[in-house]
Amino acid sequence: MAQSLNLAINGIAGRMGRQLVHAAVARGHCVSGGKEADRSPDIGRTIADLAGLGAVSGTVSGRIEDALAGAGVWIDFTVPEATLDALVCVARQGGVAMVIGTTGFSPEQETQIARAADQVAIVKAGNFSLGVNLLQGLVRQAAAALGDDWDIEISETHHRHKQDAPSGTALMLGAAAAQGRGQPLERLRAAPYDGPAAARQAGQIGFSVQRLGGVIGEHDVRFGAPQEVVSLSHTALDRSVFAHGAIRAAEWVAGRPAGLYSMSDVLGL
Ligand code: NAD
Repeated sequence: MAQSLNLAINGIAGRMGRQLVHAAVARGHCVSGGKEADRSPDIGRTIADLAGLGAVSGTVSGRIEDALAGAGVWIDFTVPEATLDALVCVARQGGVAMVIGTTGFSPEQETQIARAADQVAIVKAGNFSLGVNLLQGLVRQAAAALGDDWDIEISETHHRHKQDAPSGTALMLGAAAAQGRGQPLERLRAAPYDGPAAARQAGQIGFSVQRLGGVIGEHDVRFGAPQEVVSLSHTALDRSVFAHGAIRAAEWVAGRPAGLYSMSDVLGL
């Protein structure tokens, strides 16, 4: 068992936030603070009550400073603006590491995070599962081995509440495929196929998205040549897989030097 940490969780009453409390406690950590959106009905509730757990102290706060007090790692699964607000406070405070699971950042926001990593040790991942991080390496390898004349299409399905599209994981897999071809994803990313002049351009990477009921996360990367198709896919069966990965990242990043780390660093892939 890793050394016990004090963890602050941003978005603690969300789908991931609640899973994170359970995963942290199961690993012997203390959830020392929790933050929620200003108007959340959960502000003022005890974390124990929120998560249905007896042996947890602390309350849900609407203030970053309260939730941050005494924490060694700040774990954030919220929305981009909330994560960036927290990042400013974490950098100002010093000595606190960060795990970022939020997705949907703009390129400018990504740059802001990369700059903050000069001061803060950050693990950021569009997906914290072992399977997807393994898949990322396989996609990179397949894209490099199969050559530029194979079409690459990435499809993803998530639950009806998901805000951003394509998912952070789909973009991560797209970046891995582009890397396999020695190019940045921005150069190869196809516009959505829609309308009378929407033919696929050679060498591009296409994305398609479904939002469906309660699906936790499905990703499929397909490589197509005229005579054959290769598929690499992943299905998340339980949201707790991301929470356990994020807690593992928190254990790994606590006390590390400032820098922007990935889940591949954490898993040693
Ligand atoms: P959710 O909507 O259930 O939870 C988000 C929570 O953040 C909500 O409780 C909301 O009230 C809270 N929030 C909003 N603004 C806030 C603020 N200013 N301060 C504090 N809290 C605030 O969503 P979710 O399904 O838990 O997902 C959250 C994020 O995590 C999304 O970006 C999602 O794509 C991402 N996600 C990442 C992974 C991964 O492995 N990286 C896995 C699942 C979800």
